[in-house]
Amino acid sequence: MSLPLENLDDHPAFSRIPPWAQQKLSPKAVETIKKVHHWMETEVIPAEPILKAQLNQEGRRWKKPQIVRELREKAKKEGLFNLFLPKTFGDLSPGLTNLEYACCAEIMGRVYWGAMTMNCHAPDTGNMELMAKYCNAAQKEQYLMPVLRGECFSAYSMTEPDVASSDATTINCRLTRDPQDSNYLLINGRKLYGNCIWEEDLGFYILMACSDPDNPNPWKRHTTVIVPKDTPGLKMVRNLTVMGYDWAPEGHGEFLYTNARIPASNIILGEGRAFEIAQGRLGPGRIHHCMRLLGQTERAYELALIRATDTRKKPRGKLIGEFDSNIERLATMRLQLDAMRLVVMNAADTMDLKGNKAGRYAIAQSKIMVPQACADIIDECMQMHGGAGVTQLYPFPEMWTYARFVRLADGPDAAHRHQVGRDELKKAPKVKEQHDAYHRRYKELCEKWGVAYESFL
Ligand SMILES: Cc1cc2nc3c(=O)[nH]c(=O)nc-3n(C[C@H](O)[C@H](O)[C@H](O)COP(=O)(O)OP(=O)(O)OC[C@H]3O[C@@H](n4cnc5c(N)ncnc54)[C@H](O)[C@@H]3O)c2cc1C
Repeated sequence: MSLPLENLDDHPAFSRIPPWAQQKLSPKAVETIKKVHHWMETEVIPAEPILKAQLNQEGRRWKKPQIVRELREKAKKEGLFNLFLPKTFGDLSPGLTNLEYACCAEIMGRVYWGAMTMNCHAPDTGNMELMAKYCNAAQKEQYLMPVLRGECFSAYSMTEPDVASSDATTINCRLTRDPQDSNYLLINGRKLYGNCIWEEDLGFYILMACSDPDNPNPWKRHTTVIVPKDTPGLKMVRNLTVMGYDWAPEGHGEFLYTNARIPASNIILGEGRAFEIAQGRLGPGRIHHCMRLLGQTERAYELALIRATDTRKKPRGKLIGEFDSNIERLATMRLQLDAMRLVVMNAADTMDLKGNKAGRYAIAQSKIMVPQACADIIDECMQMHGGAGVTQLYPFPEMWTYARFVRLADGPDAAHRHQVGRDELKKAPKVKEQHDAYHRRYKELCEKWGVAYESFL
């Protein structure tokens, strides 16, 4: 049952949601969106400097800041935990559709760590979806449930420094049976990315490795396993900064596996089935970053509006917002943001209506268009703030960095464009058929009306 739309228009959480999407929101979703909005406005956005101060305290860089711990406990009690898990997951899910969650995620995204206060952050969301879908009962109990309850965190480890990881068939890290005891597996290789081992509450990595390199079918050569972070033989070589930031307390690491030994019971789904799992991971989790980027970019835009009307700043005697170039700039940013929201919501709605597989194009469309557009908008907003815009006193540098790295995380946008382009080319014969039919008809019409027929065909 949907609500009358006029009830929603006045509430700031709904003002940017287009009517077609508003009318699909259940009463429960409306309540949840309002709660998420209130949560972010009162608990998270004003607390941004507190989080930074706590992270900078002596010895606390890789520990969850106290404020995040407190907020996570509170969010759990208020029913704001794990909102990302779509309805299709039954009892594990709080019951939102992907479209409804997109409305929540945009609001959460106004601050980078907002989603973490509600256990809706990457990569745990994708990992929890994966585990809920593919783990057996014992694995769910041991690994999924603690993450869902917010007791520990998980990381995803696929990328490698020695291959082009955007083509996962090239993943090279080796997984073999332990010759001493076939109930155990040995991992050998190097990995890039995945949260730092230093992260205090990190529990395990979900790792993709090559277990059957000689299999003639390249889609059956790889296996996905769970690697507890204290596994002997797993070593973090260094913390990787991203555009100069360490992204503590989660961070990103480079890892070396030397005969790292795990129980064979940590294989997810079965040997050689990593690509089935990877396909299953191609769901809503792939556009959560895009949903959140919209919220963050809206906030950057709001700051630009404030700057444009700040009466203390009058170059050549005019407000910044009185220059035609800035009026145009603001309009363009507004239009782009609203267009991007349609793209993301369409992807979420397509998955709700037709399933994740059918949403493939819309997901790719979001992943190609949104991070780039958001980075460009944030860049303009930063520019309108002059020198102050690039300092720590404004959130633009971190916002821009986030939008920029989402062009790579979860696969580079070029790879998505490549796939979309290839799919488009497959449509060429059908399109040609359609245009040939125009032509045949044109020829008939030429004869009927006595017009000279002209063509290169
Ligand atoms: C902040 C951040 C967080 C990340 N988190 C994780 C994580 O948690 N776990 C994890 O496993 N990985 C993670 N990654 C890694 C990310 O998924 C990879 O960097 C990405 O998949 C690309 O793989 P690659 O780095 O090996 O680059 P490559 O595959 O070598 O690609 C390099 C470049 O080649 C070009 N290219 C590649 N494929 C195509 C194509 N089909 N068509 C045209 N051009 C192409 C593109 O320009 C691309 O950027 C993260 C990355 C970042 C930046």
